[in-house]
Amino acid sequence: MAIQRFEIELVETKMLTDSIKHLVFKKADNSAFNFTPGQFVTFLFDHEDGKVRRRSYSVATIPGKSDHIEIAISYIDGGIASENLFNMKPGDKFNAMGPAGRLVLKEDEKIRKLVLVGTGTGIAPYRAMLPQLERLCKENIEEVYILLGVQYQKDTLYAEDFRAYAKTHPKIKFMACLSRQASGLYTDEAPGYVQKQFEHLALKPGQDIVYLCGNPDMIDDAFEQLTKAGFDTKSVRREKYISSN
Ligand SMILES: Cc1cc2nc3c(=O)[nH]c(=O)nc-3n(C[C@H](O)[C@H](O)[C@H](O)COP(=O)(O)OP(=O)(O)OC[C@H]3O[C@@H](n4cnc5c(N)ncnc54)[C@H](O)[C@@H]3O)c2cc1C
Repeated sequence: MAIQRFEIELVETKMLTDSIKHLVFKKADNSAFNFTPGQFVTFLFDHEDGKVRRRSYSVATIPGKSDHIEIAISYIDGGIASENLFNMKPGDKFNAMGPAGRLVLKEDEKIRKLVLVGTGTGIAPYRAMLPQLERLCKENIEEVYILLGVQYQKDTLYAEDFRAYAKTHPKIKFMACLSRQASGLYTDEAPGYVQKQFEHLALKPGQDIVYLCGNPDMIDDAFEQLTKAGFDTKSVRREKYISSN
């Protein structure tokens, strides 16, 4: 699908955690936004130095539940996009482009265990994948583990969506890993870094596939662990959340 440029309009917002906001957009001309789950949109911000800054956000929309473009953004104090997006009001418009990105599922790939790992807002692309996962689990995928890494229980964004799928789909499992909280946990929560969970999954290189999204340090650490364990680079698919300029 070709990358398009379009004007985007804010419809509504809500806080998901103390520092993460869910924003719902539509295309200003009301045309449909077609994307493949896992892809991102890029927003273009005019900066005071006269240059345009690009910032990308994974599309979190669950296809079939909404036609809008939903994203989750984590607030960075003084960040160009953070200041713009956290202060937008419904009806405000600006320029965007997309969709783009290759952190997508392959329809015809046979997978024993599919592990989808996201830190913070890095869980957003997997939210968009939920209906597709449900379908792929009927034929090509034996088990899906969705692992969210955050600091505290209060930071578990979108957990209710993953829990709802996990409850009704035995092949889809959800686990929230809390790096700074070890007590008062629910049964689908574990203390420690998200990549610690690999030890408990009995992963098999050649049969299992891992997606990593979000914090670059988590991705580097997890990638090293997995490649040392025998995974080839094609079986560990990564998207680091960094600013482009
Ligand atoms: C493909 C892709 C998808 C992405 N999807 C998302 C998404 O769904 N949600 C989301 O929130 N972000 C996402 N990001 C990151 C996002 O594009 C921005 O980098 C992020 O929002 C910060 O932009 P900013 O303009 O607010 O801050 P900047 O102006 O870029 O940064 C301001 C200052 O904060 C520092 N900084 C930047 N990021 C962090 C951080 N995480 N922690 C601490 N300090 C930091 C910078 O080094 C700089 O000094 C994605 C990035 C990519 C490449």
